[in-house]
Amino acid sequence: MQCPVCRDARLVEISLNMRGSRVTLRSCSRCDNRWWDENGELVPVDSVLDLARRPVAQPS
Ligand SMILES: [Zn+2]
Repeated sequence: MQCPVCRDARLVEISLNMRGSRVTLRSCSRCDNRWWDENGELVPVDSVLDLARRPVAQPS
């Protein structure tokens, strides 16, 4: 697994179980790019936030 932006392999990974799905947050140590994957598929951050149904601090 490499960062899709800078191809650095030093990634921070945080795995969560969300409504039955395995969701992993990956963060690049080099360029600070962040993305999620769910069951091995890349998902947009907005989809994960919707999935989690977290309260929005500052609606825009
Ligand atoms: Zn990167």
